Amino acid sequence: MSASILSLRGVTKRFGGLVAVNSMDFDVREHQVMGLIGPNGSGKSTTLNLISGALKLNEGEISLRGTPISNLPAQDIARKGVSRTFQLVRMLSSMTVRENVVAGGVYGHRKRWGSEALRHADSLLERVGLSGQGGLSVGQLTYIDTKRVELARTLAGDPKVLLLDEWLAGLNPTELQIGIDLIKSLRDEGRTVILVEHVMDAIRSLCDQCVVMASGTKIAEGTPTEVLSDREVIRAYLGD
Ligand code: ADP
Ligand code: MG
Repeated sequence: MSASILSLRGVTKRFGGLVAVNSMDFDVREHQVMGLIGPNGSGKSTTLNLISGALKLNEGEISLRGTPISNLPAQDIARKGVSRTFQLVRMLSSMTVRENVVAGGVYGHRKRWGSEALRHADSLLERVGLSGQGGLSVGQLTYIDTKRVELARTLAGDPKVLLLDEWLAGLNPTELQIGIDLIKSLRDEGRTVILVEHVMDAIRSLCDQCVVMASGTKIAEGTPTEVLSDREVIRAYLGD
């Protein structure tokens, strides 16, 4: 098995009296897709926010290749190669598609400037299926295309670890297969992916390992086949 690239130890986040993430421990192995799954409100997006530095931990530690990152500002974590998409797409509407992608690389792991940044943005747009669309205003895009731009933006800084928050949600079956193949290609080129996802077909075909959360706590861990047949996981999803 490959080495751990990201590790969470005793990670806890409270919002007032609510423990949104409760002493989470897990490792993400390099060049793998790790599924972070669980019912709505179980703490998945909060966990991604803690990893990316958008939120600060109350307790615990997050390390990237053994070096603690949980005390760093979000830009520094991005610069170290950890980059995320948002569950609700956030786009700068005054800028074009291409400019949005370039902006995504500003705090990235690898910086590009001027025409190199623009060329790179266009190659990423081609990769996500938006070839030749760079000059459009983001307001003209369909929902699916905003998701494509969001992924291109996340890739602009050459992240080593990608955090995808329900990026496949709302895709039709054809688009879903394209999205799954795209995520596979990211892993095949050596990136590590944490995939927050509800689409079971995607979890089964993409994830090397899964961590299952319920009410802020890890309730299961293993391959998709293992966790999806776990009685406690089934109970958490059915919500009895
Ligand atoms: P998931 O992504 O698994 O659906 P979240 O991480 O978004 O779950 O939320 C976990 C819990 O934390 C939920 O109860 C949610 O209402 C709460 N929560 C998330 N963000 C905040 C916040 N900024 N302030 C207060 N409560 C929050
Ligand atoms: Mg969420």
